[in-house]
Amino acid sequence: MTSHRTVLLGILILCSATLSSRVFADEASDAAVATTLDRIRTAGMGDAWAYQRLADLCDKIGPRISGSRQAEAAVEQIAAALKAGSLAVTLQPVKVPHWIRGDEQAEIIDYPGRPAGVTQTLHLTTLGGSVATPTQGISAQVLVVHSFDELRSHEAAARGKIVLFDVPFNDELAVNGRSGSAYGQGVVYRAQGASAAARAGAAAALVRTVGGANYRLPHTGHMDYDPKVAKIPTAALSAEDAMWVSRLAAEGPVTLRLKLLPQSLPDVESHNVMADWVGREHPEEVVIVSGHLDSWDLAQGAIDDGAGVASAMGAVHLLESLGLHARRTIRFVGWMSEENGAAGGEAYFKLNSAALARQVAAIETDNGAGRPLGVSAHVNPESMALFKPLLKALTPMGATLLDHRDEPGGSDVKWLDAGGVPTLAPIVDTRTYFDFHHSAADTLDKIDPDNIRRQVAVLAMMAYFIADMPEPLPRLPVSKP
Ligand SMILES: [Zn+2]
Repeated sequence: MTSHRTVLLGILILCSATLSSRVFADEASDAAVATTLDRIRTAGMGDAWAYQRLADLCDKIGPRISGSRQAEAAVEQIAAALKAGSLAVTLQPVKVPHWIRGDEQAEIIDYPGRPAGVTQTLHLTTLGGSVATPTQGISAQVLVVHSFDELRSHEAAARGKIVLFDVPFNDELAVNGRSGSAYGQGVVYRAQGASAAARAGAAAALVRTVGGANYRLPHTGHMDYDPKVAKIPTAALSAEDAMWVSRLAAEGPVTLRLKLLPQSLPDVESHNVMADWVGREHPEEVVIVSGHLDSWDLAQGAIDDGAGVASAMGAVHLLESLGLHARRTIRFVGWMSEENGAAGGEAYFKLNSAALARQVAAIETDNGAGRPLGVSAHVNPESMALFKPLLKALTPMGATLLDHRDEPGGSDVKWLDAGGVPTLAPIVDTRTYFDFHHSAADTLDKIDPDNIRRQVAVLAMMAYFIADMPEPLPRLPVSKP
């Protein structure tokens, strides 16, 4: 008869054997993940496909604002490039705004010390979504302010005027690697300046351009009207011209003539482009790797966000070419209309909202083509430690940062994020990003092809690592987008 003690001993031996075999199995699978990530990194650093897609997008299609023929040509071009392999490519219909820039001109027609017959031409560009001036333009005096508070304290003086928000870009933040914060400080005036000025009875609003370098280049971008006040025309004035007008206005009354003739046309049927690299265990579960395929209309949109969309395409293409299937499906998404309100991201969320649990994580890259420095993740703080093996594999390429972010990984994935889906973005060096962003100088020549290779490697490693985790990343609490 077996004693209780013998049984206990037997159980203990069995348990410790199970435990140690599990430890060995975990160590073996950690080593396998590390080997696979190394393989992806090495292959990504040798990738030439993604940069070629970027060159095609920039040079053959060029600007691709939502609603334009070029935007749809970009959908076709990207879908065709992805279909050439064995990826499952689909187009998701999205209704998008169709705003077109028209004639845009501004002159200083009167100022203290003006020689008779002299006027001065200004460099400006209409902000996306702006209404037009009358066809002949408007002429009005300028009120220069440097903040919303200053406008409120001079509200009576703004009536009938053209309000200029002369707010300089915070270069100190930008050189310290925090250009996103510098952009944020300026962009509130671009987004809300027109309605703030309209609330005070102004005829039009100008904002000093939100950009990191002064080459007399105005940068466009989206603006929002407060539905409770009148819509007035609005444009970004080059930094040099904003300073010029401010200097003159400090001496006395300055009058501008402003002609902005954009049009808002009816919404247009467009598409998100999706391409699935199917998972080996849970093909119904999806990890998104994405960028936005629309751009502003002034240039090729090479850094915003051609680089992102080409790198994200490159990531799924790389995994396909290596024959590496993760546990879950990795889905490339090229979002449509990020710049004009992110209708593509919202449409994707609506389409998937009935089975949101299948959306495991979403990566978006939309911070330009700088060198990748690491990973930023909007996940539960306690989940951050899960990324250690990924960081270790990224270290040889100098991408050593792991940041917890408290906002969505990108504007196209904010609805998914609010629905509880963890969202992530690569951290890239953005010190020069806002020099070109949304300007006529956002062209292919600004991009170092090595950085596209680096982004392909980082995105493919992030997507594979998350899609191959034994358990899906824990969900975020549900919030409002
Ligand atoms: Zn962008």
